[in-house]
Amino acid sequence: MVRISSSHIVVLDVNRRNVPVDRRFLEIRYHPPDRWSIVRCEPREIQRVGRIFPLTYAVCPTCRHREAFPADAKELTCERCKKTALLAWEEMS
Ligand SMILES: [Zn+2]
Repeated sequence: MVRISSSHIVVLDVNRRNVPVDRRFLEIRYHPPDRWSIVRCEPREIQRVGRIFPLTYAVCPTCRHREAFPADAKELTCERCKKTALLAWEEMS
């Protein structure tokens, strides 16, 4: 069972059984800290920011630096803190 007892608390009964969980909800709280988050900009946002910013970019898990990456990249090295980490592709919605 997944019980949402308030807007901030989720109770998961995962010890006794395997429970399907709404992943969109969990991503907010249990984001793996060791991988690049992939962020896709809405076209509206691109217009606001300008052409310099890429449509899709990744956020460094260590220093939150934003960096563009090739479409087939599996991992990425941060140009600011030099840390290499995997891209969190499966978190793309
Ligand atoms: Zn970094």
